[in-house]
Amino acid sequence: MKVIIVSAHPDDAETASGGFIAKAADAGHEVVILHGGPAVKGLEYEGRSSWDVRTEESAVAAKILGARLEFLDWGHSVFEFNNRTLGQLDEFITRERPDLVIGHYPIDTHRDHQVIAVLTHQLFMVQRQWQLAFFEVYTGIQTLEFTPNRYVDISKFIDRKNDSILAHVSQGPQPQVAMHLKMSRFRGIEFGVEHAEAFHMMGRSANGPADVLFDGPRRYR
Ligand SMILES: [Zn+2]
Repeated sequence: MKVIIVSAHPDDAETASGGFIAKAADAGHEVVILHGGPAVKGLEYEGRSSWDVRTEESAVAAKILGARLEFLDWGHSVFEFNNRTLGQLDEFITRERPDLVIGHYPIDTHRDHQVIAVLTHQLFMVQRQWQLAFFEVYTGIQTLEFTPNRYVDISKFIDRKNDSILAHVSQGPQPQVAMHLKMSRFRGIEFGVEHAEAFHMMGRSANGPADVLFDGPRRYR
């Protein structure tokens, strides 16, 4: 199985689905993390280009999780939904031929996240070759009104997930770790395990081959 994680910014893929990525990679699946872009264009971090620093940090994180890393060239906070960006993502996904694409949920306070959600959904409707799921980041602050219909037990992968978030040193990543630990514990309670990540699989794409990567919601007696 081949999975593309379409992440607006470095650390979105890791916070939302780091456990899923590590688990899928360990099971022999090919996982590609595609970040929309490394940083705000022109920004510096400790005398170096943030673009370069965050590219390097992302490479460390992807290696920890066992994923391949790719980037588009979009500067943060000015992502656009237009024919050019749709074409860039179309070209990437067409070339990679994934079984599953996971991206941002459309209801989100961050504009870049919303653009990724709309782009992936548009391509999902047009290409019809792969399944589409959405993940959640900073729920309640960024992702809003998220209703999961798929879960993944990541209890054994929580340390690698945390390490991948901590690789983003320039971001002061401790709060991101703390927040997403709360989320994975909460989703774990819902699902009946210690730590879980939750996803929303688009209904029209359910019951495809990539379903083996997920569990449905917990069944109560
Ligand atoms: Zn983000």
